[in-house]
Amino acid sequence: MIPLDVFGSESVEADLLQQVRWRDGVTCPRCRSDRTVRNGSYREFQRYLCKDCDRTFNDKTGTIFAHSKVALRRWLFSIYAFLRFNTSLRQLQCEIEVTHKTMHRRIERSGEALDAPSLDLVGPVEIDEVYVSAGKKGRERDQESRSRGLSTRGRGTYDGDKPPVFILADRGTGQRYVIPAKATDESTIRLLLADCQEESLTVYTDGFRAYEPLEADDAFTREYVVHGDGEYADEEVHVNTRESHASLTRRWLSPHRGISKDKLTQYLRAFQLRRELYRKPGRDALKHAIRATL
Ligand SMILES: [Zn+2]
Repeated sequence: MIPLDVFGSESVEADLLQQVRWRDGVTCPRCRSDRTVRNGSYREFQRYLCKDCDRTFNDKTGTIFAHSKVALRRWLFSIYAFLRFNTSLRQLQCEIEVTHKTMHRRIERSGEALDAPSLDLVGPVEIDEVYVSAGKKGRERDQESRSRGLSTRGRGTYDGDKPPVFILADRGTGQRYVIPAKATDESTIRLLLADCQEESLTVYTDGFRAYEPLEADDAFTREYVVHGDGEYADEEVHVNTRESHASLTRRWLSPHRGISKDKLTQYLRAFQLRRELYRKPGRDALKHAIRATL
């Protein structure tokens, strides 16, 4: 259920932010001291005085919501719709009546605030890459590709504005990871698979050459399927889980056509967050999303 009360009232959203932010007690955002006292209010937001550095702050200070003329409930609605309903920023800017620039800046800042996923692989792990269109400045991909006739099918490159995104599906833990990269070489792949608990991690890949060195390494057991050889699923050895996740990733990125490749990480972390709150009720989902950006 959508938490409409939060989006409809400035004081309800202020309470919600307060609850999420200070769940472990109020600490000064400047000096981290917990010697704070309540000190009036700033609009709907509680204000505090730090007894150590003698400065005041409020519930919004130091969050991604600080210093905005736009009401917090509008930002919370935007983040909610962005994560839950995969709404385009262009649509959201109309809904809450802000400029394109304001919307992008705030949503992208919330993406920057998200932590990188920490991989803790158990295995077997399906790994594969997809290539998404993301230019330097964005927008340009709304045009037809000029070099369509010459385009190399399948694999793209970061420099060619089709950066690789690795999809990992850990069957041991049920976790999925979506990680953008600059290259699809051996060292990138090793780095991705480095955080594992197993002595020999079982990795399922396709026939891409960059995965070959894993075979000579005792730290890995590599098995692969060669697409196009009619050999799609060899019982356990398949990359179907990651393939369905890859199509979800594409669908997630599709309303945001024109993302610059420098911003891809933020959008993919938001996608990861979206998955975390997928089954949560509306209010919990919103709280989880706010907490993730703090
Ligand atoms: Zn302080």
